[in-house]
Amino acid sequence: RLDGKTALVTGSTSGIGLGIARKLAAAGAQLILNGFGDSDAAQAEVARFGGQVGFHPADLAHPEQIAELFAYAARDFAGVDILVNNAGIQHVAPVEEFPPERWDAIIAVNLSAVFHATRLALPGMRQRGWGRIINIASVHGLVGSSQKAAYVAAKHGVVGLTKVVALETATTDITCNALCPGWVLTPLVQQQIDERARADGDVQRARHDLLAEKQPSLEFVTPEQLGELALFLCSDAGRQVRGAAWNMDGGWAAQ
Ligand code: NAD
Repeated sequence: RLDGKTALVTGSTSGIGLGIARKLAAAGAQLILNGFGDSDAAQAEVARFGGQVGFHPADLAHPEQIAELFAYAARDFAGVDILVNNAGIQHVAPVEEFPPERWDAIIAVNLSAVFHATRLALPGMRQRGWGRIINIASVHGLVGSSQKAAYVAAKHGVVGLTKVVALETATTDITCNALCPGWVLTPLVQQQIDERARADGDVQRARHDLLAEKQPSLEFVTPEQLGELALFLCSDAGRQVRGAAWNMDGGWAAQ
């Protein structure tokens, strides 16, 4: 159980973040949500489990807003015990056509924000002698795909940062790990399915082709399954899992 612990899940108004927030709340944690989606709906969903739920609208592309998010956590929740760095964005284009401003935005949100949140979370975790940092990387932290230069670079960066933080906390009860999901059917992926469907006119086929290209199980990973893995990492049994890049990808990276 996670009673008495506070979890901050970035980008938790939809998709994987909201799924993980739900699982942590069900296990007794207090939750701080964040993101650009419907915050009232997300808060209501997580509040059903009975614990305290807060929300902060920080735009993680801006380090000063990440600092405001942590000030809010310190003021209203006495700090962050479980940090789930989940917020992420995507842009699909070949390198030579990749808009430099999209590159900068993806590196800021998918990689630099993980560094800033981690550096702001660690002092409190060290003080309290316990912490869990779970970075939602991607199977694209382990392998590449064409047209995803910024995303793949950022996610490989997250896997590297995860290892360094794990080493720097190795003799403490703070762990840092990365989860590397394959396709999960969230708004981020629905966008890519819709783009494919625009090209060939059929959403069902676009969804099947997307899976068939990369994910041998031909099934999507679910936010609930990722939430269960996050819960395991928060448990005592997860204490010696350190610096891992743990894929849950329907077999994608086994190929
Ligand atoms: P999503 O679009 O449903 O959720 C992303 C969340 O991040 C939303 O709440 C959004 O509002 C928030 N967000 C975006 N930019 C932000 C910013 N600048 N500041 C604060 N919040 C911001 O997407 P998702 O699929 O649930 O993705 C969550 C994470 O999982 C991402 O890091 C993504 O790269 C990773 N991931 C997703 C998949 C997948 O197949 N969906 C696979 C592997 C990894």
